[in-house]
Amino acid sequence: MCGSDMKVVFLGVGCGMPSLRRALPAVAVCLNKEILLFDAGEGVQYQLQCAHLSFQRITEIYISHLHGDHCLGLPGLISSMALLHRKRPLSVFGPPGLKSFVESALESTHVDYQFDLTIRDGCTKGKLSEQPRYVVEGLPAIHSVPALSFVLRMARVQGKFNPEKAEQLGVPKGPLWKQLQQGYAVQVKRTRTVHPREVLGPSREGLSFAYSGDTAPNPEFASAVKDVSILVHEATYTSEYEEKASEYLHSTAAQAAEIATLAKARRLALIHISPRYENNLQHEQEARSIFQQSFAPNDLDVIELRSVSVEE
Ligand SMILES: [Zn+2]
Ligand SMILES: [Zn+2]
Repeated sequence: MCGSDMKVVFLGVGCGMPSLRRALPAVAVCLNKEILLFDAGEGVQYQLQCAHLSFQRITEIYISHLHGDHCLGLPGLISSMALLHRKRPLSVFGPPGLKSFVESALESTHVDYQFDLTIRDGCTKGKLSEQPRYVVEGLPAIHSVPALSFVLRMARVQGKFNPEKAEQLGVPKGPLWKQLQQGYAVQVKRTRTVHPREVLGPSREGLSFAYSGDTAPNPEFASAVKDVSILVHEATYTSEYEEKASEYLHSTAAQAAEIATLAKARRLALIHISPRYENNLQHEQEARSIFQQSFAPNDLDVIELRSVSVEE
């Protein structure tokens, strides 16, 4: 896996209560070294182990809302991190009430952790985490309790610097190389301007990932995640239960596909499938009739996204 790629692991695609068919919502996004976890349903530790993902690689956790199926796995995961003598800091983001929920669970169960744990609750709209390689933003979802949707965008990766080419063009090794690597044109011998594109290979697109959390169809979310590489959207029901979906502020597979179309997403993954469905085929078919690039993963399915070179 190269630095600009992304691996998405569907740890749990069910909802409500865990079943033998599906675990509760949790999706891991693996970047080069770190893992970002979106929701942490009960059983998330077991699913992470089945997927061979180390707890210690998780650096950020995003909780969409405080319905139990999305967050009851979090205190257990943090206490296992403490048992494993974690030192690496951990940041957790989510809606109001998350901090007191986690802190009281850790305190009541006497968890002694020795790492920096930052819990940012009360997140609403805007940037939640800004790292050199990616940015994660949140925005309000439409649900029966305060809830968030998230989008992660990786930075575009600059093409590889070609030192031989730079020398050929008469750029001496030193600060001018650095300027070219940073994307600035430089002057050599006062007569010739060397442009970064002459010495850098093609840059690679920044991949992106969006996670709806529990929500009724939200056009605002669609516009916030335009051109996303992969949209993970809840699809609790299929269209025959559309009324139920709107009563409980959830989405159907068709509605998720409409959001993917609006967003011009490249791919759509349907999760949060109601336990009433024996398998995910109906969801997949319904979504595909509207948005061809739809799929309904099973627990522990993995999708690897590769960034491609982009023409300047
Ligand atoms: Zn839910
Ligand atoms: Zn919910």
